[in-house]
Amino acid sequence: MAAAIAAARNGASVTILEHMDRIGKKILSTGNGKCNYTNHRQGLRFYRGENPAFVLPVFRQFGFEETVAFFRELGIYPKERDGYFYPASGQAASVLDALRMELRRLRLQVVTGCNLTSVQKEGAFFKAVAGTKAYYADCCIFACGGMAFPKSGSDGSAFSFIRQFGHTFVQVVPALVQLKASQPFFKSIAGVRTDASVKLYVEQKLVCEDRGEVQLTDCGISGIPVFQVSRYAAKALGRGERVHAALDFVPFLGNGDLFWEVKGRFMRGDGKTAEEALVGLFSKKLIPVFLKQNGIILKGDAAAVPEGKLRALCGYLKEAWVDIIGTKGFEAAQVSAGGIDTREICAETMESVLEPGLYFAGEVVDVDGMCGGYNLQWAWSSGYVAGSHAAVG
Ligand SMILES: Cc1cc2nc3c(=O)[nH]c(=O)nc-3n(C[C@H](O)[C@H](O)[C@H](O)COP(=O)(O)OP(=O)(O)OC[C@H]3O[C@@H](n4cnc5c(N)ncnc54)[C@H](O)[C@@H]3O)c2cc1C
Repeated sequence: MAAAIAAARNGASVTILEHMDRIGKKILSTGNGKCNYTNHRQGLRFYRGENPAFVLPVFRQFGFEETVAFFRELGIYPKERDGYFYPASGQAASVLDALRMELRRLRLQVVTGCNLTSVQKEGAFFKAVAGTKAYYADCCIFACGGMAFPKSGSDGSAFSFIRQFGHTFVQVVPALVQLKASQPFFKSIAGVRTDASVKLYVEQKLVCEDRGEVQLTDCGISGIPVFQVSRYAAKALGRGERVHAALDFVPFLGNGDLFWEVKGRFMRGDGKTAEEALVGLFSKKLIPVFLKQNGIILKGDAAAVPEGKLRALCGYLKEAWVDIIGTKGFEAAQVSAGGIDTREICAETMESVLEPGLYFAGEVVDVDGMCGGYNLQWAWSSGYVAGSHAAVG
């Protein structure tokens, strides 16, 4: 939609071909229905891919400021919370409505329920075929998304058309997604939310870390810090490498302070059991798991636990190793990582370097952002740049 609006504003006659019954469905689910459409904090560190610097020429033309102004003009009054931008209405539907109203004002043609069977070059034109209908254009922009959340329409079905133009894809994997772990104890701690830091190791090497509210599920770990590291896990698992997460359940205490805190609780000699000694420091569901993992009897006298075991317990609390065996897949993912190899796209215009007149925008390109409005920012920016250049190119 951003690409279409930019192209139409630059004088092009535009047709959007959408295979769902309506356009922009995914927007309705973004930001828990509130649409976190950009973020005040911008920079290369929020974007990932084989070549994250690819985003820079795009953002120089249409970045954070331009995005906020663009949506202001469409009626979206920004509400900021800790750098995260949402529409003041608190409704993602407002963002979609605003875009749709602009498409209507610009008299764009929107064809929904359009099941494309081919997109090819025919002479000087691009020809897209859907059933008995054919659409011709001087330029063609693929803004078909990645493979995440396929029920919103982004199912990878357009990738084969893109490949036919000679383009190649960096492996597409789920990202911003829950991770599955092999440890059976997760069943007993499902539903617990706790402040923790997550370090992700691939083949014993630290690749990424994040801190925040971790959610424990019946089969593994979730929550924003897990989402932030998940693309590295998915990529490594795709390469057949071993992946571990090390959870620090007490990121607010250093090793020394934690040991004195734990020792004080166990050595008090007030008749508490080992299980009772940790009440108030951790969620009640977590305590039995922590103790069992370190061979400490839950109902035994806290004061009788040897110091060596307390040291091992503290080590575990600071670095609980979890074997990561998979992700919850594209259905549960917020984005996909990977996509069209950026070496095949001109970063100034988003035009294919293989096929003049062919453009790309959004998640279909090998760029994925962190949680926090960065993926929509990339979609708006790359879309606007692609549309502007397609119209005048
Ligand atoms: C639950 C959820 C929450 C999210 N929250 C946020 C958030 O708050 N902030 C943020 O920045 N990002 C968020 N994201 C990510 C963000 O929504 C996406 O990165 C962004 O929508 C990508 O835009 P896009 O235009 O590239 O692709 P999409 O939004 O996926 O749109 C692609 C369109 O192409 C259509 N299409 C695909 N294949 C075909 C075909 N063969 N023929 C015709 N049409 C086709 C699809 O139906 C769809 O309409 C969230 C994602 C999810 C799933």
